[in-house]
Amino acid sequence: MSKRDYYEILGVARNASDEEIKKAYRRLAMKHHPDRNPGDQNAEEAFKELKEAYEMLSDSRKRAAYDQFGHSATEGGFGGGGPGGMGGMNFSDIFGDIFGDIFGGGRAGPQRGADLRYNMEITLENAVFGTTVELTIPTLVGCAECKGSGARKGASPVTCKDCDGYGQVRMQQGFFSVQQTCPTCRGKGKQILDPCGECKGKGRRKQNKKLSVKIPPGVDTGDRIRLSGEGEAGEAGAHPGDLYVQVSVKQHAIFERDGTNLHCEVPISFLIAALGGELDVPSLNGRVKLKVPAETQSGKVFRMRGMGVPPVRGGATGDLLCKVVVETPVNLTAKQKELLKEFEKSMSTNNTHSPRSSSWFNRVKKFFEEMKP
Ligand SMILES: [Zn+2]
Ligand SMILES: [Zn+2]
Repeated sequence: MSKRDYYEILGVARNASDEEIKKAYRRLAMKHHPDRNPGDQNAEEAFKELKEAYEMLSDSRKRAAYDQFGHSATEGGFGGGGPGGMGGMNFSDIFGDIFGDIFGGGRAGPQRGADLRYNMEITLENAVFGTTVELTIPTLVGCAECKGSGARKGASPVTCKDCDGYGQVRMQQGFFSVQQTCPTCRGKGKQILDPCGECKGKGRRKQNKKLSVKIPPGVDTGDRIRLSGEGEAGEAGAHPGDLYVQVSVKQHAIFERDGTNLHCEVPISFLIAALGGELDVPSLNGRVKLKVPAETQSGKVFRMRGMGVPPVRGGATGDLLCKVVVETPVNLTAKQKELLKEFEKSMSTNNTHSPRSSSWFNRVKKFFEEMKP
């Protein structure tokens, strides 16, 4: 019987990667599987051929031999299969292989502990400079009595006799055998014949765990800190999960944060705006002097370099941006009102003292002129 080329059967190039071969095999196995083609002799043959090709090409040693010697490499060992029918072929084998990856597959065992998430609200100061926070989290910890095994002291879990530790058993259902979670050990692969009295065989116990978490400088809302292995203990000594601390930064009374920059608004008097002066402005490092030059307009932003936030992943520290806002005086006495009126009278009428107004009035004038037909 002349055989088809294995690469041709799988429909892949001779230099196909392992991944490509696996993909092609999965696709074709689904197509030709006898479950999908009941009573179809051709599909059955195609499926057998496919399985043989995959067994050869998925094994790097066998593939190398096949590349060199062709089908003669397969003689006297694998390949062939019994004449007709589905003989000794076991479909659960092939499905274990196809679905194994999807379901996390392979040998079942004790479950890894669950990951935990802790929402933490911190002040802006702590976010900028970093801090250490003590947490108490309700979690599952490994049982000290049995060291997580779940078995009474002196005893140890034994390999499940029904599934030989695989956690899966094959059930014959008519023509096919179907793989199922082992009902005896519920997929764990091990059985505890003499459970620990403290944890009732679970290997874990509920406990409030105290942890000290280092918050690095520069964290921001939405950042997540991962504490490897600080989640729930795993079943029967399996790996613990991780703890994720989800950071959110509280609103600050003075500063607004924008990435690595901080913004704040500073009210200044009309006098300082007009004549200039020096103010104390707040920064997260304490008070800093801000020199306001004469003739400063309301809304002007002063940049204080390096007084912002250090980025959490390194780099240049941001800036503090102070926006000065000229404050209109309120609760004026009659005398003060008189002085202001006098001051106004002293201003010339040609707008030389009001650069904004003159520019604005010019634009308004132009606007109305252009509107005329
Ligand atoms: Zn225990
Ligand atoms: Zn079992």
